[in-house]
Amino acid sequence: MENNIVLNIQNVEKTFGGLHALNNVNLSIEEGKVHAIIGPNGAGKSTLLNVCIGRLPPDSGTVSFNGENIIGKTPYEINQAGIARVFQTPEIFSDLTLLQNVMIPAFARRDGAFKLNPFKAMSAEREIEGEAEQVLEEMGLIEHKDNHAGSMSRGDKRRLEMAMCLVQHPRLLLLDEPTAGMSRHDTNRTIETMQKIKEGGMTKIIIEHDMHVVFSVADHISVLAQGAIIASGTPEEIKGSPVVQEAYLGGAHL
Ligand code: ADP
Ligand code: MG
Repeated sequence: MENNIVLNIQNVEKTFGGLHALNNVNLSIEEGKVHAIIGPNGAGKSTLLNVCIGRLPPDSGTVSFNGENIIGKTPYEINQAGIARVFQTPEIFSDLTLLQNVMIPAFARRDGAFKLNPFKAMSAEREIEGEAEQVLEEMGLIEHKDNHAGSMSRGDKRRLEMAMCLVQHPRLLLLDEPTAGMSRHDTNRTIETMQKIKEGGMTKIIIEHDMHVVFSVADHISVLAQGAIIASGTPEEIKGSPVVQEAYLGGAHL
């Protein structure tokens, strides 16, 4: 049986001046799967994610999420619809504690329910604090919950950002190079976290340079080179693909 398609990217084109950053990209992401997008620097990976979260309008093409076209929607509307993302550089509130950082997106998700009722908002605060603590626990950050986010290591900041996404219970999580600049120790902890999220069945798109990370977590891999998808398949298929070896790895073996 064909799995449910959560995100369907069709014929997406994006140019910056004379540069063809995305060239007729077609990609469908199945529910519950971890889909990795790999490719050399400048291939268009971040551009593709930015199109999917409403940060960049494509020149043409469609992106549908749960069957509904999201092109033209604002990043806020797309986030409310159930897509959360972790950026290449962490976007956290350095002066707030870890707990406060995770409580903010949890509040934001329920904002509509609170706007007219401050009593409801106040009574929900404890519930939201509980949810935030649970996510921090899962990420192994609970002992730092009262520390300022700015004082944490780079790896912890990234995992804090992941916690800020998870507390929103997104249907689709997009991660742009979640282990970039991390120590091996932090990378391994992040792999463990991603495997845990995977067991929970959340659909994810992960852009990643580190092949160890990709082959540890991905169910499916697509290779982007010069704005075009040049190969798509299981990790085994991608490992063995001569096209990928040539275009992406310059002939080196994975
Ligand atoms: P990747 O994430 O795969 O490294 P990007 O999507 O960041 O690649 O970039 C793809 C290409 O588009 C690169 O050549 C980059 O310089 C260019 N590019 C990305 N964003 C912009 C922008 N806002 N304006 C102009 N060129 C851009
Ligand atoms: Mg990038």
